[in-house]
Amino acid sequence: MEKKVGVLGGGQLGAMLVEAANPLKIQVNILDAPNSPAKQVISNHGGHIDGSFKDPEAIRKLAAGSDVVTVEIEHVDTYVLEEISKTVDVQPSWRTIRTIQDKYAQKEHLMAHEVAVAQSVALKEASADELGRVADELGLPFMLKSRKEAYDGKGNFPVKSRHGFGPALKALGGNRELYAEKWAEFKMELAVMVVKTKDDVLSFPTVETIHENSICKLVYAPARGVSDSINKEAQELAKKAVSCFWGKGMFGVEMFLLPDDTLLVNEIAPRPHNSGHYTIEACPISQYAAHLRAILDLPLQQEDLVLDKQAIMLNILGGETPDSHLAFEREALKQRRTSIHMYGKGQAKKGRKMGHITVTAATMAEAEQLIEPMIYFADTGKV
Ligand code: ATP
Ligand code: MG
Ligand code: MG
Repeated sequence: MEKKVGVLGGGQLGAMLVEAANPLKIQVNILDAPNSPAKQVISNHGGHIDGSFKDPEAIRKLAAGSDVVTVEIEHVDTYVLEEISKTVDVQPSWRTIRTIQDKYAQKEHLMAHEVAVAQSVALKEASADELGRVADELGLPFMLKSRKEAYDGKGNFPVKSRHGFGPALKALGGNRELYAEKWAEFKMELAVMVVKTKDDVLSFPTVETIHENSICKLVYAPARGVSDSINKEAQELAKKAVSCFWGKGMFGVEMFLLPDDTLLVNEIAPRPHNSGHYTIEACPISQYAAHLRAILDLPLQQEDLVLDKQAIMLNILGGETPDSHLAFEREALKQRRTSIHMYGKGQAKKGRKMGHITVTAATMAEAEQLIEPMIYFADTGKV
């Protein structure tokens, strides 16, 4: 493959992108710190750049050595992306990343395109008065969210009553811009990985995600006990939501399934996504390979974005000790039909994504049985 891909960010998503690029001999230039997860994947070329993906000079250097520039994280300087887009193909568009990286702007954009989302109110300032106004408008509880730099639930704070205003301001106050979302009393969370190519909007199957404390813990592919009509609606909603953005590549669409079976979009990620890791083992083409094909205008068919096997993915989160993920890895190695992905992030911090495992089987019941001991180990630290 002639074209070189530049990536802002070299975390686990970047690493799995490089792993998908290797068999096609696509050169992927990573901009991130030396030895970041993506740079640990074999890549015998001099195209990587050591530096911060927030540094404009480093981004310009990445652009100079790449034909297409993409991201593995949306918290990037879109003004520099806009600038380099005059000389290099940026995918998806900087406009898409700018809209999505501000979660409130993202919601406004989706609403303008008639995509159902949770009712949202922007705060003028981080104050108890403003939270009072929000509570009057949305009712209690509501979810207070940071507009920007949010990931893994780090910008979220559930406000359950007026007594929660103080703790909420303590957690998210300061100079962050905030907004609040009406509480979604969902019965299930669903996600669909959607890929935008130059001509098409294609999608992977509808999966079920289970979050704990706002961080993704488990993904079931396909979603369990979801009717054909809900599945179809989820697919259509996800594709409609992605269609209103600009450019090419993978998008992760997170949704809430409400008790009356209606769906709301929670949020969209303009990149490969945690709830699409399962595609590596369970689909003919992974979300990482699909992303590369889409941004490089290589052929991609809907037929390749289907489940060959049933899959369950479990995130390995940092525990109480810096090496807790290594104990998890030791146990996972003993399990059958279990693929292990360790990210090479060094010492664990509590709640940090250190790796994941994917179990595949012919039936969901079998996959559930196989992964059960590892869910127990993740919850208790015991075998
Ligand atoms: P990610 O790591 O997916 O980017 P994030 O930090 O951007 O996460 P959100 O996706 O906004 O956070 O929220 C994380 C989780 O918190 C959701 O998956 C859901 O479980 C819960 N949550 C978010 N918004 C609401 C809401 N309005 N009502 C109820 N629960 C919510
Ligand atoms: Mg998010
Ligand atoms: Mg999310």
